[in-house]
Amino acid sequence: MVLGRLQALRHSPLYAGRSVYPRLHHAPGDAVPHNEWSTSPEYNIEIVREVNSMIQKYFPNAPVFPVVGNHEMSPLDQYPEPGSVPEQFAADWLYEGLASQWSSLVPDLDLTTVKHAAYYSVLLRPGFRIISFNSMFGYSSNMWLVANSKDPASELAWLEGELNKAEAAGELVHLLGHVPPGILVAERTWSREYNRIVVRYENIIRGQFFGHTHYDEFEVFHDGERPISVAYIAPSQTPWFDLNPAYRIYHIDGDRPDSTRTVLDHETYVMNLTEAHETETARWYQLYSARELYGMESLAPQEWQSLVERMAVDRDLFNLYIEVLAVIRDVTSGRDRNPWGRRASPAAQGLAGSIDGSPW
Ligand SMILES: [Zn+2]
Repeated sequence: MVLGRLQALRHSPLYAGRSVYPRLHHAPGDAVPHNEWSTSPEYNIEIVREVNSMIQKYFPNAPVFPVVGNHEMSPLDQYPEPGSVPEQFAADWLYEGLASQWSSLVPDLDLTTVKHAAYYSVLLRPGFRIISFNSMFGYSSNMWLVANSKDPASELAWLEGELNKAEAAGELVHLLGHVPPGILVAERTWSREYNRIVVRYENIIRGQFFGHTHYDEFEVFHDGERPISVAYIAPSQTPWFDLNPAYRIYHIDGDRPDSTRTVLDHETYVMNLTEAHETETARWYQLYSARELYGMESLAPQEWQSLVERMAVDRDLFNLYIEVLAVIRDVTSGRDRNPWGRRASPAAQGLAGSIDGSPW
């Protein structure tokens, strides 16, 4: 029943006449795959170059806003304080490589901050700014944080400064990162300070976009009394572990007088990997749109807060959320274990049979 609703969304009048071709492309990091102990600087830079050239080939007219992931570094995750370690441990080779790659993707990119630590701030339109930051300075797998965890690369100070200038200039801002703050592997103090910045500048931050977890998730930020911002965490195209590849389209309030630059809706597309193997054909399906699936008036922070509260008392609604996760988790393949080797919840296991009987 639920899957029927999911399928029907592809024909929703909500999207009639809308182009699904991107005007902006957010490349959320981790171009380098999970062969974690067989990487090298040369290999990683070559992978980044290949991925970027494919993005440019298929989206030739869309400005691209890349983000550095934990897998771009070799060895992975290890981003030291710039200028504080011997050359063989430094990430300078990566920052130089990214600067040379990103300069052809990002319009009017200031390479100074990219070469410093792979973060940047770009005024995309008058009054609309994109800020991409290196979240590995708040990632607990980065062992260099043991040596210095007090705002490495002065990144949070830079971020706060950029938002301060943006506020004074009357600009609205989107924040792009890789590892979402607040999750188990995010460094707690870094997450707390990031949250403080978001609370301070909630009036101009109109979107936060992350990846890394490979799952379809969201975070609601609070100022202690009310929801003030949302971080969107998009599912991944890589199937690691036991996932169906997915991608996300965000519909943003676009170029017009008094544009809010807020996220109006998002759509998630999935490829059934089991079917693709069997038929040797990749077919992409629209899995859902957020507003239609969850019955939301808008994607304002209070609407996401309300969704969480509704799910707490509405079992069917909660199961709908789990169902989306289950399709992305490829329970149709018969795999019923989560990435940590534990058995999936009974609810997720129970979905396998009903999904196997569907067009999925
Ligand atoms: Zn990652």
